[in-house]
Amino acid sequence: MNDEASKLWELQQVISELAELDRQLNVKPESFAAVDREYQVANEDMERLQTSLDGMSKERRRVDGELSDQQELLKKYQGQLMQVKNQQQYAAAWKEIDATRKHVKELEESVLKSMTDADAVQKQLDERRGGFDDLKSRYDTEHAAWQGSLGDLRAAIEKLKVKQEEIESHLPEKLKREFWRIAKQRAGVGVARIVGDTCSACRTRVRPALSQQLKRGELVYCEGCHRILYLERPAS
Ligand SMILES: [Zn+2]
Repeated sequence: MNDEASKLWELQQVISELAELDRQLNVKPESFAAVDREYQVANEDMERLQTSLDGMSKERRRVDGELSDQQELLKKYQGQLMQVKNQQQYAAAWKEIDATRKHVKELEESVLKSMTDADAVQKQLDERRGGFDDLKSRYDTEHAAWQGSLGDLRAAIEKLKVKQEEIESHLPEKLKREFWRIAKQRAGVGVARIVGDTCSACRTRVRPALSQQLKRGELVYCEGCHRILYLERPAS
């Protein structure tokens, strides 16, 4: 009799069931998934609009700085105009003034344009924010409904965890560690049942010699996937 292998097999079934329930726990129902998508999109939109606004405001500060430099420069040239001594200097000063004025005008237009652009983005952001409270409350409601519906599932998981502990408490420490070492490396499956002479996990044939060892109650590993093999014995 190999009681250990059947205990391990029992443990394996509990572990597999727990994994399945855990998966179900994380599957979003469509009613929540729909509002969740909407919520994510709204968040991304607001983030994108805010980033765009931040960029605009940074550029605006740069242009403002350049504008004030150019205005200073213009004042300086206008001062120089008062001190010219001949026609040539006068013409040169006027040329500078003219060019700087043009530059100032361009910068002022650019400031106006960026204000208009920023207003438009701000308006979009405000609209998004305006609808967001409603969306957030729908999101919260659906999320709470979903979580509320999981009570039975959670209770089943708790029960299985108790069962898992119970089984593990009857296993020698070394064997338990061995089981978990394999399970962690192999998708949560440390023990595989033999069905029709093959390992049900990897379909490797179990050699007759190994079958004999199993029948004698020895711990045998699959030669294909290295999981612990479990041979179901007919009820006696
Ligand atoms: Zn195998």
